[in-house]
Amino acid sequence: MQILLIGAGLSGAVIGRRLAEAGHSCRIVDSRNHIGGNCHTERDAETGVMMHVYGPHIFHTDDEEVWNYVNGFTEFLPFQNRVKAQARGGVYSLPINLLTINQFFGKTMRPEEAKAFIAAQADTSITDPQTFEEQALRFVGRDLYEAFFKGYTEKQWGCSPTELPASILKRLPVRFNYDDNYFFHRFQGMPRDGYTPMIEAILDHPGITVELSTPYAAEMAAKADHVFWSGPLDGYFDYALGRLGYRTLDFERFTYQGDYQGCAVMNYGDRDVPYTRITEHKHFSPWETHEQSVCYREYSRAATPEDIPYYPIRLVEEKALLADYVAKATATERVTFVGRLGTYRYLDMDVTIREALDTADAFMNCLADGRPVPAFMSSPL
Ligand SMILES: Cc1cc2nc3c(=O)[nH]c(=O)nc-3n(C[C@H](O)[C@H](O)[C@H](O)COP(=O)(O)OP(=O)(O)OC[C@H]3O[C@@H](n4cnc5c(N)ncnc54)[C@H](O)[C@@H]3O)c2cc1C
Repeated sequence: MQILLIGAGLSGAVIGRRLAEAGHSCRIVDSRNHIGGNCHTERDAETGVMMHVYGPHIFHTDDEEVWNYVNGFTEFLPFQNRVKAQARGGVYSLPINLLTINQFFGKTMRPEEAKAFIAAQADTSITDPQTFEEQALRFVGRDLYEAFFKGYTEKQWGCSPTELPASILKRLPVRFNYDDNYFFHRFQGMPRDGYTPMIEAILDHPGITVELSTPYAAEMAAKADHVFWSGPLDGYFDYALGRLGYRTLDFERFTYQGDYQGCAVMNYGDRDVPYTRITEHKHFSPWETHEQSVCYREYSRAATPEDIPYYPIRLVEEKALLADYVAKATATERVTFVGRLGTYRYLDMDVTIREALDTADAFMNCLADGRPVPAFMSSPL
């Protein structure tokens, strides 16, 4: 079949590859002038540092098949994300762990003592937390909440944690040991040469053609048997019902001679510091040596129509509009909406790849069984 895929990010590339290997002909178009979507990496012209152009990306997964898949296309080197945070004039270790607790409260507690100490800080009058704030107060108490969650969350989401659902902070966000590895997953790493060469290798198949700087136009779909859309769900319908809300990010680039902050990611918890974090990109490639350094100060704000949509907001208002778009999409034939924008969900790279592989397989199963292809293989609701 002639397959049209909108977007040359991970979703488009992985679906295209799977279908091309099965003999389908895949045309992938992307409005940007590069492949890789938001995972795109490139060397900084001035310093030679490998840059995560759309923000820091760390690969982590428990999905062994996905880990083997990405390792089949590029070499991954070990990398563990160890995030630090500045708050109230100090530098602390994240996620909140025994070191953070002992330093923050000026103590030398062992795990059991710290557990009892934090339990005493927690607000036990909150029995059924509804909001992010209630959830945090119940788990960690006011001091840690205000230093590490409140200001950061206000900056990140542009609203009070009292307006955000408790589900954002699901598990106990505290470790009672000295484990400061940001992710729990079994497999973690960083592609040695960045993500873009990995996605280039995925796209390197005779059944795939890629056209860059090419926004979708309706006549493209007329020539295709089926379309996979990894652009914004509302964008497919020309925003006819209104715009789904997103947060966007501004990256303020600056260079430094030497090592600016000694780690890849430093969060800023205080509300009066306007940025959420600083990323120092050379620390994402610790196997490389660079005298100079490039950093991004990261600011978060509501996305306007001109901005890159980064994080779906998914509060009550957005979910109502989303349901209307899902109904429109479900009534659309020969189009499947995929990926983080097409399904309006935050998806890590490993989940994106897992869903893309499953989507391609489900599509081929539908063809084999003569069943209609659904608009969504993963429900956005
Ligand atoms: C700031 C940030 C940090 C992240 N950090 C991590 C991390 O540390 N670890 C992790 O696992 N994941 C991380 N992610 C998630 C990761 O970026 C996504 O999993 C991944 O990018 C999803 O791929 P995608 O192909 O679905 O979407 P995208 O990468 O967004 O690709 C969609 C593509 O579609 C194109 N497109 C859109 N509309 C059109 C159109 N009309 N015509 C043509 N082309 C179009 C876009 O240009 C884009 O290239 C992070 C995301 C963000 C925003």
